[in-house]
Amino acid sequence: MRALPVRIRLSLWYFAMFATAACMLSAASWWMLRRSVDSTEYHDLQERAEDVQLLLANRKPNASIEDLRQQFASIYSIKDDGKWLQVMDQDGSWIYRSKRMIAENPALDAPDRLPIQGVLAEFHQGTRYVRVLAYPIAAGGRRYSVQTGIALNKSMVLLTTFGTDLLLLTPAMIVLAAIGGHWMSRKALQPVAILAMEARRINDRNLDIRLPVPAAEDELADLSRTLNQMLERIDKAFASVRAFTGNASHELRTPIALLRTEIELTLYRNRNEEEYRAILRSLHEETIRMTDLVENLLSLARADGGAEVMTLVPIHGKDLFDQVEQTWRKILQSAMLDFCVEVQDGLVFAGDFGALTRLLSILLENAAKYTPPGGSVRLSATSAADTVVLTVGDTGIGISPTDIPRIFDRFFRAPQPGVSTSRGSGLGLALAKWIAERHDAQLTVESSPGRGSCFSFCLKKVAPASPEAALVIGSRVR
Ligand code: ADP
Repeated sequence: MRALPVRIRLSLWYFAMFATAACMLSAASWWMLRRSVDSTEYHDLQERAEDVQLLLANRKPNASIEDLRQQFASIYSIKDDGKWLQVMDQDGSWIYRSKRMIAENPALDAPDRLPIQGVLAEFHQGTRYVRVLAYPIAAGGRRYSVQTGIALNKSMVLLTTFGTDLLLLTPAMIVLAAIGGHWMSRKALQPVAILAMEARRINDRNLDIRLPVPAAEDELADLSRTLNQMLERIDKAFASVRAFTGNASHELRTPIALLRTEIELTLYRNRNEEEYRAILRSLHEETIRMTDLVENLLSLARADGGAEVMTLVPIHGKDLFDQVEQTWRKILQSAMLDFCVEVQDGLVFAGDFGALTRLLSILLENAAKYTPPGGSVRLSATSAADTVVLTVGDTGIGISPTDIPRIFDRFFRAPQPGVSTSRGSGLGLALAKWIAERHDAQLTVESSPGRGSCFSFCLKKVAPASPEAALVIGSRVR
């Protein structure tokens, strides 16, 4: 059953339920008709016995049994031929017996052995099917057994005809219901078939197509809308992957073309050792930038694919800042920038050491790039309630308010007069934002053009040297 298509399963369920209901209804109607016929007949027989009781109650007080016999004979024998009646007194003497009763001679108990509601019995006589009721009555201080009968032929014909009609009608109704059920399930599932057909048309080249939403506000409309929302997300993801690939190839093409041109120009004629050294230094710088770009691209691709795993552990602010300072002090000094590092003692927060070093390095690299010589760069960690705020500030060129919302977008580089855009790839802040988010933090910036920028984010504070804390936060985040 499970392997069958939904349409067939629905039809079969509908058919099974309707067939069961139709059979039960037919059986119940036949049974109810039979019960009401039986009840009518019983009351008819009972009434006849009560007529006899009335007759016996009205007899003369000193009438002998012979008188009674004559009285009954004079009343009942006129139409005796069609009657089923016999009356017996409590001593077992017959008062009246119709010819049919004499011919059949059914058993009749004494009145004190009959139950109050009487006893029913049935028998065949010739072509007749007869039901008799042996009924106890009392009249004039004596008790009698009265047995009256009725031919069941008419009722049987009625019941048989009704039963035959039901036997013909019920299967016909079931067949009609099966056809109707099949048609209904087809009609009900037609919108699903249309949805499936439309969905089959969608591929990676036409992801902008949307599925039709049925006018009725039903489950199918809901399904269409949900699928359309999913398509919207897939479309956006595809567009961003395409843009990412396009931008990445564009970013790589420029330095590769530069390298090629420089190499070709160098090979064009013979040069002295000094010239070769200068060219190789320039090529070396270019390859370093390309390596950085490829590393950033790889990190973002790994982050998108969920392959970049972070393990959050308690980190001492001092250790992290020492590590970062060791790398950046010389670079910033050679860029003629004042570098100031401030970290409160005993600050411990949850984070991934390697990832946080990378985040701070991205921010410090930007500070170095966008701060003119003579300016200053400040790296600080301060305690605030249950968090630690990490900040990288500079006194550089700043960012215009219109560019601020876009600086975290991949490959975005704000056009800044006097600063060579070829120095950056526009990927640093996107990566920094992603690292902050993996730490449940939001990387924010405050900046005003000409006065500098300040990037900051908050990390969850943890109790120093607590092994439990290490266990709780030592989880891997993708
Ligand atoms: P890039 O490699 O170009 O620096 P980022 O993603 O790191 O790429 O930065 C995006 C843009 O944000 C930069 O091109 C620059 O215009 C702006 N920006 C980032 N940091 C600073 C800063 N400290 N001062 C001024 N502008 C900044």
